[in-house]
Amino acid sequence: MKRRSRLRSMLSVPLLAGLLERRAGRSDQRRRRGRPLHVAVVGAGAFGGWTALHLLRAGARVTLWEAIEAGNPLASSGGESRVIRHAYRQRIYVDMAAHALELWQEASRRWQRPLFIQRGVLFMGQDTDFLDDARRHMQAAGVAHEMLEPVQLAKRHAGFNPEGIGWAMYEPEAGYLAARLACEAVRDAFVAEGGEYRLGRVRPGRVVGGELAGLELTAGDRLQADQYVFACGPWLRQLFPELLAAHLKVTRQEVYFFRGSGAKVDALARGFPVWAEVGERFWYGIPAADGLFKIADDSRGPEVDPSTQSREATPAGIAAARQFLGYRFPALGTAHHVDSRVCQYTETPDGHFIADRHPGAGNAWLLGGGSGHGFKHGPALGERMAEQVLGQRAVEPQFGLARPGLGAGG
Ligand SMILES: Cc1cc2nc3c(=O)[nH]c(=O)nc-3n(C[C@H](O)[C@H](O)[C@H](O)COP(=O)(O)OP(=O)(O)OC[C@H]3O[C@@H](n4cnc5c(N)ncnc54)[C@H](O)[C@@H]3O)c2cc1C
Repeated sequence: MKRRSRLRSMLSVPLLAGLLERRAGRSDQRRRRGRPLHVAVVGAGAFGGWTALHLLRAGARVTLWEAIEAGNPLASSGGESRVIRHAYRQRIYVDMAAHALELWQEASRRWQRPLFIQRGVLFMGQDTDFLDDARRHMQAAGVAHEMLEPVQLAKRHAGFNPEGIGWAMYEPEAGYLAARLACEAVRDAFVAEGGEYRLGRVRPGRVVGGELAGLELTAGDRLQADQYVFACGPWLRQLFPELLAAHLKVTRQEVYFFRGSGAKVDALARGFPVWAEVGERFWYGIPAADGLFKIADDSRGPEVDPSTQSREATPAGIAAARQFLGYRFPALGTAHHVDSRVCQYTETPDGHFIADRHPGAGNAWLLGGGSGHGFKHGPALGERMAEQVLGQRAVEPQFGLARPGLGAGG
């Protein structure tokens, strides 16, 4: 065993991280001599785009690299819409969602784009474990919510069937986000505020002396920065297989769109909130004012490669969605399936994000593991990441690579 790797194997991950952090800080200062910190962010999805914007606003020079385009259809942040709600079993996400919602609202106003649509979110279920935790945290955080009897729901919304629902909680201030539009808006703001946006697929270069030496571009060129943030969504695992293969699973997720007709359907389109039903399966949906009803099952699909997986929805998936939609919303029983999307979750074993320094390279950061619920948190998580890169915030243990919840190799 070489001396360096013997030494490394003797150090625990946190010790090694601390050592690298101090070394990275010292070499950063030497290199920069008064010029602004240059950070390269890879990936312009919800996570990378917001990180780049926050870094820029904090005074860093930022280059944002994107392989395809911000919010492209292969990325996890693509497509029309994403739910934003506060109902979570862990307090940290309730607080992050509340902060993120403020930032989304502020962005919608500042950029004059409808990024956040306040439609309310209705959570429903049988088992009260989820509800008890979520309500406790939401109460403590001062998040508005209302408990509704299932019969009240049916009275409020003709065309909805409350059968089998034990509880329903309504969050009036939540709603949905215009996903692709939001990624484009963040990119546009980043460029307008002086960020450098470049298209191209990049790879991490070699690690030399505990630091990443640069990014390698497809054409064989190299780009150097002081710090690097990899926010590559479902591709993150492929860039750092030795580190992340055991921690990240990329699963296939289908989303369906239906359109119905009639007065009851029109009323649902106008007034039914974004909804989610926690149960054996986890169906959720977004009714839109234009009469398009989005529905998806949050259960994890098979593992896939995001670059090569089929983007065509399965007939079985469409049939199951149609059946559930018709059961919960009899008025939509004869709705037409008009479109589908196939996307992917990047799943950690415990469902928590990864936002940590690379354990072997003091100037590289890994941001990902959205685990099917990350989009809403983009502005708040990006802010955290920016502060970590700038040395203003410690790594949140729940999002760290050394946490026990990541399992083998974690
Ligand atoms: C079907 C579906 C429904 C979801 N619903 C919700 C929801 O309702 N609410 C919610 O909050 N979350 C939801 N999520 C989760 C959320 O969308 C993701 O957690 C979030 O979008 C992840 O963003 P990201 O920036 O990590 O990844 P991505 O959006 O995938 O961004 C990564 C970017 O990196 C780029 N890239 C990759 N490799 C390279 C490279 N080598 N060089 C340069 N660029 C590269 C990619 O092109 C891509 O643009 C859902 C996800 C899916 C798939």
